[in-house]
Amino acid sequence: MSRIVMKFGGTSVADLERIKIVAQRVKKEADAGNQVSVFVSAMAGTTDQLVRWVEEISPLHDAREYDTVVSAGEQITAGLLALTLQDMGIPARSWLGWQIPFKTNQVHSAARIEEIGTDEIIKRMEEGIVCVMAGFQGISADNRITTLGRGGTDTSAVALAAAINADRCDIYTDVDGVYTSDPRIVKQARKLDKITYEEMLEMASLGAKVLQTRSVAMAMNHKVRVQVLSSFTDKPGTMVVDEDEIVEKQVVSGIAYAKNEAQITIVGVVNEPGIASNIFLLLADGNINVDMIIQNETEDGRKTDLTFTVTDVDLDKTTSILKGANDIQFDSLLTDINVVKISVIGVGMRSHAGVAATMFKTLAEKGINIQVISTSEIKISVLINSEYTELAVRALHTAYGLDAE
Ligand code: ADP
Ligand code: ASP
Ligand code: MG
Repeated sequence: MSRIVMKFGGTSVADLERIKIVAQRVKKEADAGNQVSVFVSAMAGTTDQLVRWVEEISPLHDAREYDTVVSAGEQITAGLLALTLQDMGIPARSWLGWQIPFKTNQVHSAARIEEIGTDEIIKRMEEGIVCVMAGFQGISADNRITTLGRGGTDTSAVALAAAINADRCDIYTDVDGVYTSDPRIVKQARKLDKITYEEMLEMASLGAKVLQTRSVAMAMNHKVRVQVLSSFTDKPGTMVVDEDEIVEKQVVSGIAYAKNEAQITIVGVVNEPGIASNIFLLLADGNINVDMIIQNETEDGRKTDLTFTVTDVDLDKTTSILKGANDIQFDSLLTDINVVKISVIGVGMRSHAGVAATMFKTLAEKGINIQVISTSEIKISVLINSEYTELAVRALHTAYGLDAE
């Protein structure tokens, strides 16, 4: 007998028929004698609709009310799945975030889990009840509903799995595992049997939305055995594992892309010590996350151009902070939102040279200009014109020998 947490994403619970298929999967685990907890997302498209309504009615909305609205989709699916299970003769009941409770901080729309009440859930699972829970939501110390950021049901599931010491956390979605690249744009993408926590963390944070980044960080910290698999087929999925569980390490395991980037160049900044620190401290004060950075001195060294990226939603705020800063002198500000960040990721990069050279050569051969570069131990990212997203990802996929036969 095992204790397992199952998570079903939006497409897996998109309508009543699919909820019945989900219930069959849950039944199978319960019938096998396992203790089962289930997290569900809202039906596909529901959360997007809720977000649109909030933005339409109140563009500068109160973040607390935003969470009240956008958390609502999960309540429906949790209740419907509990009902479906009951009708199949399986004892089940639903819980909302505040009932469990999932206690979070007060950062609405991107709240962090601080504590999970596990006593009742564990007791009910031991009694043989399937605990069906609304993902993505929690409650803050001041008794308000919070949400964990888009895709947050992954994090709900992994967090509970860690808190109740589950043997497995199975993330059911609309693809049958983690692929070498997004199978929606790379037809030749291959499913990985295993991927390391570190690589998955990079893949997720660099754009592969198959798992929410925070859920991977949590799984890594608490050694939760996470498996990504399809709710529509019975194929084995992808296990997220420790590096030492992978015998043959690939140099490059995957390629990710993120379209929500924006590039800013501050042209003609006075080149003196402390100027970069002034600029980036100012942006940090404005809660703006800066990602890639490059700096180019002019020939005489008296001025410099500073180029960096932020997420596209932060672009307007960033330019208004810079324009409003009296102590930062520059000639002009250039912005570009037609950019995409393409990243190649692999733990094998630590011990192999030439990965960057292959990337640059491949892009050059396709006539694609690189605007910014950034690297870490296990990834290389470049910023290019978004028009070339598919072309670049596919060419790199082939160049690193990742294409399926
Ligand atoms: P869910 O609603 O189940 O949470 P998501 O839409 O959040 O599902 O995540 C699954 C999607 O992630 C897939 O449909 C796929 O297009 C996308 N994806 C992006 N990169 C990858 C990758 N490397 N491997 C698998 N899926 C990926
Ligand atoms: N329903 C939420 C979203 O669409 C949470 C989730 O699906 O994980 O972002
Ligand atoms: Mg998701």
